[in-house]
Amino acid sequence: MAKNIQSIRGMHDILPSQSASWQYLEATVRALFNSYGYRELRTPIIEPTELFSRGIGEVTDIVEKEMYTFADRNGDSLSMRPEGTASCVRAGIQHGLLHNQQQRIWYTGAMFRHERPQKGRYRQFYQAGIETYGIATPDIDAEVIAVGARLWKQLGLNGIKLQLNTLGSDEARQKYRDVLIDYFSAHEDQLDDDSKRRLHKNPLRILDTKNPNLKELVAAAPNLMDYLDDESKQHFDGLCARLDIMGVAYDINPRLVRGIDYYNRTVFEWVTEELGAQGTVCAGGRYDGLVKQLGGRATPACGFGIGLERLLLLMEAQEIQIPALTPDVYLVLAGEEAQIAGVKLAESLRDSQVNLSLQSNVAAGSFKAQIKRADKSGAEYAFILGGSEVEENTITIKALRSSEEQQTIPQDQLDNFIKEIIFKGK
Ligand code: ATP
Ligand code: MG
Repeated sequence: MAKNIQSIRGMHDILPSQSASWQYLEATVRALFNSYGYRELRTPIIEPTELFSRGIGEVTDIVEKEMYTFADRNGDSLSMRPEGTASCVRAGIQHGLLHNQQQRIWYTGAMFRHERPQKGRYRQFYQAGIETYGIATPDIDAEVIAVGARLWKQLGLNGIKLQLNTLGSDEARQKYRDVLIDYFSAHEDQLDDDSKRRLHKNPLRILDTKNPNLKELVAAAPNLMDYLDDESKQHFDGLCARLDIMGVAYDINPRLVRGIDYYNRTVFEWVTEELGAQGTVCAGGRYDGLVKQLGGRATPACGFGIGLERLLLLMEAQEIQIPALTPDVYLVLAGEEAQIAGVKLAESLRDSQVNLSLQSNVAAGSFKAQIKRADKSGAEYAFILGGSEVEENTITIKALRSSEEQQTIPQDQLDNFIKEIIFKGK
């Protein structure tokens, strides 16, 4: 027999049993982003490779090692998107959104990175993010962070801590870069190959290393805070003051540089201790240089990306209750006449009760088998249509989750029953 084809390593099916959690999370995220005035932007999953190499930076893990890049049939180099920001900027420039148009944007969708798959780290994963354009003041950094804080609150998640840092201006970073090169050069024998390669190209990246052997060396490196320019310092103070007013707690982490090149000034991560090494559920910051770098007019920008799988893992770990996707009603159709009459009844109920979730029995089966299916469906009630009900235009209502007594009522009272009993409290 031929071997069954499997999904690609690190790329997973989201099964029907898991989709209630996904839909709940996505609906919550969508409603929250919209409520702050952000509007959705959907971009293609594949982009010209150049967008990411120019946007994210050549000397980054993503572009050096993680991108799914291939030649199109006509030889163009294309890449599966590894993140959402570069595409938002591209689309923003292309459609002129970034100036006095739609300056608050959100997106969600699949991202692709060729990483070593493990819990919370996949080759296809989903992100949801927000981006803001054209606003240079720290009130927008504070708003972006507040949106994250509110999402954790709405989901009922605890223990997600905010790590905050500032990378300063380009000039400050340039100064700091030289200081870092001096520092790491003095300890070059301790560096791993990746870090040696980055030493002169992009020494800040070394601070972001995941190699535990470099931990001490990195911890003792000079701090960017000590080289900060006045304006960036004021910006950072303005952000911190607003976070204080909103009651959003944060830890300042001078080692936080983020794995993507485009950040300046504010950078932050929301981190949990409950997911092991994959503890960052959301990461973002300011990227004032990217729009210009990608060919647009200089435009300040700020945003974040959330890893939805990690958030779902955390929701599971914290046993967050998620509304189940179960029908309100399972329609039992006992006998041949009922099977015919039931089709009409089901559709007319769906006409008059648009919010009703009704699952009809199909492919007949004994009464007992149908009641079993009704129970398994998770429905609150079974509506039972048998020979006598068809004849008398009635319906028998059986509660499946409570000891409510079974009753038979005229079909023309069903709408009332659904409104008064099923939708009461919903
Ligand atoms: P990490 O340090 O964990 O590799 P990153 O800095 O590469 O993360 P970003 O590019 O900032 O991550 O992406 C934002 C968020 O997307 C991360 O904080 C994380 O929650 C999620 N994420 C990133 N890569 C993956 C992945 N391979 N699988 C699942 N989620 C991911
Ligand atoms: Mg990464």
